[in-house]
Formats: sequence, C-alpha cells, structure tokens
Amino acid sequence: MSKKQFKAESKRLLEMMINSIYTHREVFLRELISNASDAIDKIYYKALTDDTLSFDKDSYFIKVIPDKENRTLKIIDTGIGMTKEELETNLGTIAKSGSLAFKKETELKDGYDIIGQFGVGFYAAFMVADVVTVISKAVGSDEAYKWESTGAEGYTIETVEKDSVGTEIILKVKENTEDENYDEFLEEYRLKSIIKKYSDFIRYPIKMDVKGKRPVEGSDNEFEDYVEEQVINSMVPIWKKNKSELSDDDYSNFYAEKRYGFDKPIKHIHVSVDGTIRYNAILYIPEKTPFDFYSKEFEKGLELYSNGVLIMEKCSDLLPDHFSFVKGMVDSEDLSLNISREMLQHDRQLKLISKNINKKIKSELQSLLKNEREKYEEFYKSFGRQLKYGVYSEFGANKEVLQDLIMFYSSKEKKLVTLDEYVSRMPEDQKYIYYASGESIERIDKLPQAEFVSEKGYEILYFTEDIDEFAIKMLMTYKEKEFKSISSGDLGIEGEENKSDSESEEKEYKEIFDYMKNILEGKVKDVRVSKRLKSHPVCLATEGDISIEMEKILAAMPD
Ligand code: ADP
Ligand code: MG
Repeated sequence: MSKKQFKAESKRLLEMMINSIYTHREVFLRELISNASDAIDKIYYKALTDDTLSFDKDSYFIKVIPDKENRTLKIIDTGIGMTKEELETNLGTIAKSGSLAFKKETELKDGYDIIGQFGVGFYAAFMVADVVTVISKAVGSDEAYKWESTGAEGYTIETVEKDSVGTEIILKVKENTEDENYDEFLEEYRLKSIIKKYSDFIRYPIKMDVKGKRPVEGSDNEFEDYVEEQVINSMVPIWKKNKSELSDDDYSNFYAEKRYGFDKPIKHIHVSVDGTIRYNAILYIPEKTPFDFYSKEFEKGLELYSNGVLIMEKCSDLLPDHFSFVKGMVDSEDLSLNISREMLQHDRQLKLISKNINKKIKSELQSLLKNEREKYEEFYKSFGRQLKYGVYSEFGANKEVLQDLIMFYSSKEKKLVTLDEYVSRMPEDQKYIYYASGESIERIDKLPQAEFVSEKGYEILYFTEDIDEFAIKMLMTYKEKEFKSISSGDLGIEGEENKSDSESEEKEYKEIFDYMKNILEGKVKDVRVSKRLKSHPVCLATEGDISIEMEKILAAMPD
C-alpha cells in the first residue's frame, strides 16, 4: 500500500492552517459534528427524491465516544458516507468542499441548508490528533474504506469491513506536552460542554454514553455505576421557533442559560428576516449595567451562528458602540465566509445584518420610550451615558439615530425629559434650548443664572455628566433650536441687557469694578454689570461657546 501525497501545495497549506486559523482548539469537535450533520442532511435530502431510500428520522444520529485507555475519540454518524473517490477528493484536497458541490448540484429545499462549504473544517482534527482515521461506507455501496493520515505527510486508503452506511472518524488524541493539555478532549464532562457550547442546535441528536451512579434496587445505602446513552444537544433553537409559541419566560430563561447577564432583561427583541439576506436574531436590552461596562475590559458583541452552529462568541461588528449594551445572538445561513469561519470581519452580509439590527434596536427603544416610560427610564439610568457618548463620538455621525433617545433632567418637570418634549412646550418667544451644567441637580438649582431664566418661564435642562455638554455641542441644534448655556454671555432673552443702561452703570461703578478685577487678577477676565441677577449678588459667566464646566473638563484632560 503506497502513501499518496496531498495535492498541490496542500502540505504547506495544511501546516499553516492547522496552526493559524482557529483561535480555540476545541472547535475541532464543532467542525466534525457539523460535517456529520451535513452528511445526515444529505441522506435525508436524497431520500426525498429517491424512492429506493427511506429516511426514518429516529435512526439518524451522531455519537461521540471517548476512550481514555486507548486515547481515542470517535465521532460516528449515520449520514450519507463517502465512496473511495469521495474520500480522496474531499479529504485529500484541502479547500475542496464536497458539501459545496452538493449544494450546487441540488436545489436544496428550505430548511435543509448544509453548513459546510469551505472545505477546511475537517483538518481542524489535526489540532488535537496525531492520526486521523476515517472509516466510511457510502449509501448504495457494498464496500467500505478506511482513510488514514498523520497530517502533512499524506494519507493511505484501504478497504475495510463496515456493516452500516455512514462515517466513523477516529482521532488518536495527542499526548500532553509541557504547555498543552490534550487529555481534556477525552473527558466526558469537557466534551459535553463543548457540544453544548457550539453544537447545541444541530438538528440531529448528538449522543454520548454518560456514566452515573444510582442506588441499588432494594438497598438504602448501596450505589452502583451505570452507563446511559444521553442526547447532549437541545436540537431546536429557540430563535427558529415561532414567536407565538414562546413566552416571556422562555426568553428570560434563554438569557440566563446563555449567561448574557445576571439581571432580568428589560426587553427582548426577536427578529426573523427572510429577504435578500436571511437571519434570525434574539436581542436583549439588559436592565443593569454590567460591572465592567464603562471600563476598557468590557467587550461588546453578539453571538454569531451559521445555521445553528456557533461561529463567534462576541462578534463586535454586529453592534455599533452606542448600542454596545445589547446582548444576544444572530443566526444566518447566508454568511459567506472565506477560509475560516472566524475571519469574517469585512463580510458584506454581516454589514447588512448589522445595519438592520441597528435600526431595529433604535425603533424598539423608541417604542419603549413611548409606551413604557418607566421601563425606559430604568434603562436610561443604566445606559443613557452610552447613548450620549454615541451622539458625541464619530463626529456626530450617529446623532440622527440617537437624538430622540437621550434625556436630561428638567427644571420644570423635576424628572428626565426628552428633547422633543422640551421643544414641544417651549413658549413662542423662547429662542433657545437652555441648559445648565453642574456637578449635581442641587448645585444647578442654586446657580444665580438659573433663577433668571426660570422666571422667564423657560425650562432648563440640567447637565450633570461630563459627556452632556460635549454631546450637545455635537448635536448643535434640535428641531432647528440651538442650545444655550445659561451661563453664556448672551442669553438671547429680550430686554435682558439694556445697553445704554449698563453702560452708564458700568461708568458709575468703574472704580469698584477695577478694584475687584485687580484682586481677582488671573482668575477672571472682566468684571461687569449683570441684569440677570435676582436674589444672588454675583454670578460667573463665560464669553465664548465653552462653558465653565466644559473648561474644567478640558483642563483636566491629558494633552
Ligand atoms: P466543508 O464541510 O466546509 O465542506 P470540510 O473540510 O469540513 O469542509 O469537509 C470536506 C468534505 O468532506 C465535506 O464537504 C464532505 O463532502 C466530506 N465529509 C467530511 N466529513 C464527512 C462525513 N462525516 N460524512 C460524509 N462526508 C464528509
Ligand atoms: Mg465542514
């Protein structure tokens, strides 16, 4: 039996790939299980059009069998199997996908979309195995074959005995090295958790023989070991179910199960899109800010699935920064991934999905604001700051999306109000949207200028967070109304400062003003008469566009 060489540059490519494509070794199991699931899909599909085949759904399964003593891990499937030629072409040529060819040959019916199409997944097995053996019997064939390879060296093929149609993959698991642990891939609990994590929604049962202890019948204190075949995956993903079948509890259970957060989400959004791009998504607006949310450690992102198989745990490209608090998942059959499932940063489809999701989140937040005000305010307490950062960042590129979602404390309402609410109740003679910056609501209440504006009957928005004024500067106007700080030089209030009046008073008190200026040298630029004061003797004002609060922040910033 002669050893055959991998075709073309396969040898080098294989080495490169094995070591660089996948970030986590554990995904080898996901790849092999996906292939097994594809193989069952194919036989199922064939049975639909071929009368000589019958498909009894219950007799199709995938089984994972670890054997610690022999250091082997078997993945068995009852799928379509491979002929000798198929073993050669599909496993002997890297980046040759039998599944892609199958898809192209056959018009697949809805719901039978095959996962594989890149022709590299199988080789992930070499990340954990020294030797990979594939024993396969194709449907309609009397012969079975054994394909075996130690990686880059090439492979052998010979005939073997195998009763049933399907494929058996046997991995000779690598020995532990000083830095790398491979034993874990022979541990029952570890394998179970990898299956749960990546392959929970494969639509065929993934079985394992699970060891347990149970009381001996008729005895109170004796226990015996037993082995029981269990199905590890839950098979039907909640996002593929109909919304009408699901209760609020189902959604919050999923949130908890997935550990998206420890709180109870304020709102869930279930999207099923079946247009030019198809995807399902379940998104959540959390109630509480995660402890690391406003730190560098926080990583935004949604889980990304390709047809039920987890590809990425935190796909950050799916969420804009201003909605980074959103949790959840997206599943799409349409992702065109090149080379690796893990390299899809610049995917066009992904961009489309992200754009749609962005719009959806916005409209859901708006409806929450409109219909469930209390809940929205709860949400806003946790994540409002992020929305305001969103207005400010990227030179205001997202202000259209966000300006109706931000809120500020109002002097009139004594609670949070939206800009729309503010503008809609402005008296006719009011030209500007007035705001005041300060450390706290109590402090702003005491600002001398606040009294003057309030007495005019104008509402004032209180800016108590650093970001507020920066965000508003980026916004510039809302519904064509400009924003104005109550401490700015010109308030734009009719008759506010009668020029000639001030001038004469200015002259009258020149001496004392000069004296004050002298004492405050370096601290103030000028001392003037103010017509704005009511019960306070003095106030601080700025001349330009930058308020005192903003100046403080700018001064504190590192150069
Ligand atoms: P992909 O799944 O992206 O096509 P893989 O490298 O994972 O690429 O697999 C290569 C090909 O080998 C598959 O397309 C399929 O034709 C074949 N194959 C792999 N595993 C099995 C299996 N368990 N049963 C039948 N065919 C398989
Ligand atoms: Mg595959």
